[in-house]
Amino acid sequence: MNITVVGAGYVGLVTGVSLADIGHCVTCVDVNKDKIAKLKVGLSPIHEPGLESLMQKNIDENRLSFTSSLKECLKDTDIVYIAVGTPQNKDGTANLSFIEIVAEDIALNISKDIVIVTKSTVPVGTNEYIGGLIKAKTPKDISFDIVSNPEFLREGSAISDTFNGDRIVIGAENDKAASIIEQVNKPFGVPIFKTDIRSAEMIKYASNAFLATKISFINEISTICEKLGANVDDVAKGMGKDKRVGNQFLNAGIGYGGSCFPKDTNALVQIAGGVEHDFNLLKAVINVNNNQQALLVDKARQRLGSLEGKRIALLGLAFKPNTDDMREAASIVISTGLLQEGSEVIAYDPIANENAKHVLSNEVQFANSISEALTEVNLALIITEWREIIEMDFNNVRRLMIEPIIIDGRNCFSLDMVKDKGIEYHSVGRPAVI
Ligand code: NAD
Repeated sequence: MNITVVGAGYVGLVTGVSLADIGHCVTCVDVNKDKIAKLKVGLSPIHEPGLESLMQKNIDENRLSFTSSLKECLKDTDIVYIAVGTPQNKDGTANLSFIEIVAEDIALNISKDIVIVTKSTVPVGTNEYIGGLIKAKTPKDISFDIVSNPEFLREGSAISDTFNGDRIVIGAENDKAASIIEQVNKPFGVPIFKTDIRSAEMIKYASNAFLATKISFINEISTICEKLGANVDDVAKGMGKDKRVGNQFLNAGIGYGGSCFPKDTNALVQIAGGVEHDFNLLKAVINVNNNQQALLVDKARQRLGSLEGKRIALLGLAFKPNTDDMREAASIVISTGLLQEGSEVIAYDPIANENAKHVLSNEVQFANSISEALTEVNLALIITEWREIIEMDFNNVRRLMIEPIIIDGRNCFSLDMVKDKGIEYHSVGRPAVI
């Protein structure tokens, strides 16, 4: 199949590269010309394990190319995937302006029958809405189908997720379109679940909202554990052994961030509100998460008293390990809180330092290594559980810091691991080790 993927970001690029790797002929389109220039020479604009080598392989084998002209692609494409951003509006609703621009672009340049597949996360009813927009401007002798195919990849393991996903959801209004997209995806070997368009759109939001609920639930439990002297990690392990509960997404910590959970949970509250349903449960999940992100600043204040003039290291800045994505990262809230209280903030991330420089306050100082970040600080906060951070040398902590105090927002170490290491260790939902 000849496939065009519009939007070469975290989702579009991974989708395009993966579709090429299973044998399709793929062109990725992006309005960002710098991105396209980089992609054309085989450089990935994002950090995603395994992406760049797979991309280069498929460029070399002539199945993958890049352009900034959708018009050119539409001349001989069979399928157009839409994978542009749907960021959050100020009121929490999903911003569909990028989607609308692409729909308009397709409508003006469509020259043969095609299937249009929406990968972007969009509110229920959006596929019908964009179908209407395109239909209004498409010549009468050309037909197209719209398919909702929401994306479930996780940044940091996106390639592996694409080839080993739990399911591919295909929402279509007719069997023909559904079966075309089923055939396209078959070589992935991932189970396919077919449904109607509205249900497919809802599956994406409901899945993210449910996972966010699990995270906020265990974080609430962690707060209670901490007050009662229980260990939330053991509690989660014990709960997770029940198959009905499941052991994933029960890691207590400083909450979820990133480009999806925060905006998608807010959007679902708005979607529910649009049909006069007050989604109280999800509102509470969001509230818990907001408080959780600020937890480390409270813990730092409790330990050090005033934070004024204190030098504090932030270890890990990206919203999760193995990505350079800083969207809605807890480090933003935490660094802002610390600066407001007069602390000096020294930040380090193995990969996301450059992106973080554009996002964090220019008062934040950046270090090039864990050791540099720890040098002469009063306190170190662990924000992201990068392997390098999990494997850090406690001798350095003792040697370099003014006082060897760590507050770990991701419970990177078991309490046994930090015992008798000459450091003071605080974490989330577990007794302190002093
Ligand atoms: P992104 O911001 O990384 O990428 C979007 C890309 O679209 C950008 O490169 C941008 O330049 C490009 N773009 C914007 N307008 C365009 C146009 N008119 N023509 C061509 N290109 C255009 O976003 P993302 O993280 O890849 O997310 C895309 C969608 O997928 C969102 O709806 C998101 O909610 C959803 N999603 C994201 C993830 C994730 O982990 N990032 C996972 C599942 C679903």
